Amino acid sequence: MYSPAPTRYDTPFIYRRCGRSGLQLPLISLGLWHNFGGVDVYENGRAIVRRAFDLGITHFDLANNYGPPPGSAEENFGKIFHADLIAHRDELIVSTKAGYHMWAGPYGEWGSRKYLLSSLDQSLKRLQLDYVDIFYHHRPDPNTPLEESMGALAHAVRSGKALYVGLSNYKPEETARAAKILRDLGTPALIHQPRYSMLDRWIEPALLDVLAAEGIGCIPFSPLAQGLLTNRYLHGIPEDARAAKNGFLKAERITPELLAKIQKLDALAQTRGQSLAQMALAWTVRDPRVTTALIGASKVAQLEDNFAALQTLDFASDELARIDAILG
Ligand code: NDP
Repeated sequence: MYSPAPTRYDTPFIYRRCGRSGLQLPLISLGLWHNFGGVDVYENGRAIVRRAFDLGITHFDLANNYGPPPGSAEENFGKIFHADLIAHRDELIVSTKAGYHMWAGPYGEWGSRKYLLSSLDQSLKRLQLDYVDIFYHHRPDPNTPLEESMGALAHAVRSGKALYVGLSNYKPEETARAAKILRDLGTPALIHQPRYSMLDRWIEPALLDVLAAEGIGCIPFSPLAQGLLTNRYLHGIPEDARAAKNGFLKAERITPELLAKIQKLDALAQTRGQSLAQMALAWTVRDPRVTTALIGASKVAQLEDNFAALQTLDFASDELARIDAILG
């Protein structure tokens, strides 16, 4: 029987308010995109989820299509929840999303009301939950009126199947329009989930300003650039690493130029007494408009390494300048 660590809420300053909402999220949240699917080792994923909860990580992020096969990460999380966490439902923030391809035919992806609400019902069945805490539109749909997609999110809240709504991969201007529609519907956007890391800083010029103005939190995904901003690839590509699996992180991405930057960042992290992953996570949440960094992990040890980033969050201005110079 698993019994969560009684010390799990003892780490100081771990929670940050999500935009202007009443909800606080841990500075590090755990995503189940990789390593929690039907093809993965269930007990490994279960150990990572349990360890996360023991550390005070209350937020677990899913989507309809996470696996592989699609849907299996939600099924596995549902199993873990019922085996280990059911007594702690009110301590957990579970999110899911719909937007990418999930089933055949014209109603299995994008942003129609038909797709979004059917997908949420399917997710709840796989998760074996009555409601999710956050339901996201996973990507904007250029062919569906924004009013229809946002209306579906608002309906999910009114019907009790979600507590809050979120947007993912929306550009700044789309975000502002969506936020207005959601506010008018009485279900303000809680959070935005963009890709953001030292290797992809697109949110800095405009999106963060929009989020701050609208009172929306920000949960960057892939803050470690899928593992590139860790010690994983410093000495080649390990067999069990994501870049060896020919999926979303291609080995070709690791060019000599990129590797040189990663080595310099690693050296700088060492001068701060941190691993590169820890420095990359501290850097991701350095701006208070960023609520939480949404990490992945394939091993409990990675999760623990990442969590220890919280011990050194501050940067001297010359360290930030040095990082900018390395990144070019
Ligand atoms: P990260 O950038 O955190 O990459 C995670 C990977 O980095 C791990 O699987 C592992 O790779 C490696 N890693 C993590 N910690 C360490 C460490 N301390 N030392 C060495 N290697 C480490 O995030 P993800 O790309 O996994 O994305 C995180 C979450 O974001 C997803 O689970 C999902 O919830 C969300 N997401 C959302 C998207 C959206 O469109 N909204 C898109 C993508 C992700 P390895 O497996 O090789 O060990």
